[in-house]
Amino acid sequence: MQKTILLLFLVFQNLLWSQSFELVPLGVYGGGDESNLSAYLIGEPGRNEFLSLDAGTIRAGIRVALAQKTFDTTEETVLKSYIKGYFISHGHLDHVAGLIINSPDDSKKNIYAFDDLIDLFKKHYFTNGTWSNFANEGDGPILNKYRYISLEKGRKQPIENTALSVEPFELSHGEYSKSAAVFVENSQGDVVLYLGDTGADRIEKSEKLALLWQRAAALIQSKKLKAVMIEVSFPNSQPETALYGHLTPRLLQEELQSLENLAGKGSLSQFKIIVTHLKPGGNQIELIKGELEANNELGVDYHFPKQGERLLL
Ligand SMILES: [Zn+2]
Ligand SMILES: [Zn+2]
Repeated sequence: MQKTILLLFLVFQNLLWSQSFELVPLGVYGGGDESNLSAYLIGEPGRNEFLSLDAGTIRAGIRVALAQKTFDTTEETVLKSYIKGYFISHGHLDHVAGLIINSPDDSKKNIYAFDDLIDLFKKHYFTNGTWSNFANEGDGPILNKYRYISLEKGRKQPIENTALSVEPFELSHGEYSKSAAVFVENSQGDVVLYLGDTGADRIEKSEKLALLWQRAAALIQSKKLKAVMIEVSFPNSQPETALYGHLTPRLLQEELQSLENLAGKGSLSQFKIIVTHLKPGGNQIELIKGELEANNELGVDYHFPKQGERLLL
């Protein structure tokens, strides 16, 4: 019996070490359920040193991960010690609520974001009118738990207390909000691309995704890019005039076609696309999944993450 357990343990360790990234979603939806909103822990396998990509839901996600034995520790340990920092793509509540609500119980760490987002936190969230200032700049009294680290477009930023670094890009997310994407790189130079909420270039009248795809295409050609995490919020029936800076299956497929044009024909065959930010309501989620799979001419490997379930990339 003990030998079997040991063997299983070794098999699991081997599986972990042969992969580049470990991803544990703490929340996967783009609205509708406050216990399951965008937040993805990413780290090198087996190290328990994670960067949280957005932070819509934290504690409820940790609870699900513990219940599923994804982590074998306490809620407090995951929050305070496994999560080493937060990357925040933009200020919408479904991306920041978990961070704000759990700030009193959290440990000292960094928040990585573009300056616009840091300003928004200083003005609206970590301020006395709406909460308390748990960060290191802005309204007094300053509680100094979080340190804002200002990201610069295209400049690689190491993530403290992890082996990761991020390279940020801007995204266009409707008329009223900017958003951001990061290429997350591990110590081997392998990369996962995470996008916060984004519209399509054609709808947004933008070239933000085109710029991002140039970088991604080079990483696909050098076989360094392991996966792209990108949103699809609405089914195809959503009018293009009412997208509010989001994607549908059709628009994602258009954008992936642009990526394939740059990376080379067939380059996205079996490539992992992790679909984030589905908005629940009616049968929307099933519709979105069906529409993605039904028109998958590029042959990508769509994956729909589940809260608390570890994914190795
Ligand atoms: Zn969102
Ligand atoms: Zn948003």
